[in-house]
Amino acid sequence: MTKLLLEKSKPERKAANLPFNQNESLGSISNFLPENSLRTENLNLPEVSELILVRHFSELAKKNFSIDSGFYPLGSCTMKYNPKVNEYVARLEGLAKLHPFQPQEQVQGALEIMYTLSEYLKEICGFKGITLQPAAGAHGELTGLLMIKKYFEKTGDKKRKKVLVPNTAHGTNPATASMCNFNVVELKSNDRGQVDLDSLKANLDDTVAAIMLTNPNTLGIFEENILTISKLVHEVGGLLYYDGANLNAIMGIARPGDMGFDVCHINLHKTFSTPHGGGGPGSGVVCCNELLEPFLPTPILSKNIKEQYYWDYNKKDSIGKIKSYYGNFGMLVRALAYIMVNGKEGLEQVSKDAVLNANYLKENLKTDYDLPYDIECMHEFVLSGKKQKQQGVNTLALAKRLLDFGIHAPTIYFPLLVPEAIMIEPTETESKEELDNFIQTMKELAKEVLANPDFVNAAPHNTPVGRVDEVGAARNLNLCWSLSCNQ
Ligand SMILES: *Cc1c(COP(=O)(O)O)cnc(C)c1O
Repeated sequence: MTKLLLEKSKPERKAANLPFNQNESLGSISNFLPENSLRTENLNLPEVSELILVRHFSELAKKNFSIDSGFYPLGSCTMKYNPKVNEYVARLEGLAKLHPFQPQEQVQGALEIMYTLSEYLKEICGFKGITLQPAAGAHGELTGLLMIKKYFEKTGDKKRKKVLVPNTAHGTNPATASMCNFNVVELKSNDRGQVDLDSLKANLDDTVAAIMLTNPNTLGIFEENILTISKLVHEVGGLLYYDGANLNAIMGIARPGDMGFDVCHINLHKTFSTPHGGGGPGSGVVCCNELLEPFLPTPILSKNIKEQYYWDYNKKDSIGKIKSYYGNFGMLVRALAYIMVNGKEGLEQVSKDAVLNANYLKENLKTDYDLPYDIECMHEFVLSGKKQKQQGVNTLALAKRLLDFGIHAPTIYFPLLVPEAIMIEPTETESKEELDNFIQTMKELAKEVLANPDFVNAAPHNTPVGRVDEVGAARNLNLCWSLSCNQ
């Protein structure tokens, strides 16, 4: 166990050398503060040298698993390698040190970055309008549904209360619809892992506001009937929302706009290689067609006849601001760098490689694990740990055991319609050797389940910490640096 920093403390050790205040006329800082704001006792902070401090945090950092340290096939989340050049660009002083309150004339370069990125993303998704404001995928969903809501307010269509969501949907979809005061209606999936058209038709009427779809869906399967679906929904006057958190399978190949969707969000922090995880900044850009364009959040980035960029606040039907300032700028810079480095052909290749890698893993693993939907997958696929469960080892134990081999676990128990789901997304950035190593490890794991189920059930065996109560940790978040300070 790593000692707490406080346990390494020795009185009077310091990591900082503060200059002695020689300006006698100013005196001590305590002269400026009111009596009741002054501390009467010393803070119980660790007293350590700089070297001890550096070693402490380096030791902790090494215990973290990350995409830079190993394979991370976390389905739905697209944990691809984030090229370091993106980081370099985002950290350039002229970009990183801008202030959002700087006058527009001073930040034309930054606005050009945002404008250029907007043009590319609209082209990639097949849409006319865009906002870069939303800070995450779920935030993009909220933006899109608020726009749809405002549209129906505007058309006076008061009956539209229903949002259709297939049972493969990401949990944020029904959550967003409820937050916007819509009634969520769940659609069934057919035996090909796609929206069941009968279930859809049975729920189509003039109370439908929208359908929220992911395509490819969270089973990694492309909705073959997407054009029929969009036609049917539009026929009853409903709109189509595209959850494009993952665009990794279709970039440069298919576009949500062409599939008949009216509005979509894209997670730059998944597909466009900006880092994510740990609740850091993200970007859930929203694109839409002409019908919904008037409702986009303000301000809208525009260009005048003199080719100068400016923020246009003058949009009377806008849903208003959705985030302070203009979005997470650093993420936008990284995404633009990624798009420009790849180019059109490069992005298409990314998608093809992501799909190829996923199918390669699927075909090699389907004999050892149950594959509930045995059809060609897109950028990810879902196995079931059903067979292993019958041997007394559940999917959680399989996931924990993978950690012993230096592999991050896939997403498990999602999507909900697959029992003991194991959702695998290798991404395009992994080599054949890495994919083969994963196949080998998963095959060994399947054998181990038969030979020694108790050992697998007790996993992980060689990680810095064993099984943790993830739900407890999230619900009762404790960010204290000392064991005693949460009492
Ligand atoms: C990740 C994801 C979301 C939510 O995105 P956040 O940025 O985590 O809010 C929504 N839908 C799908 C399909 C996703 O994979």
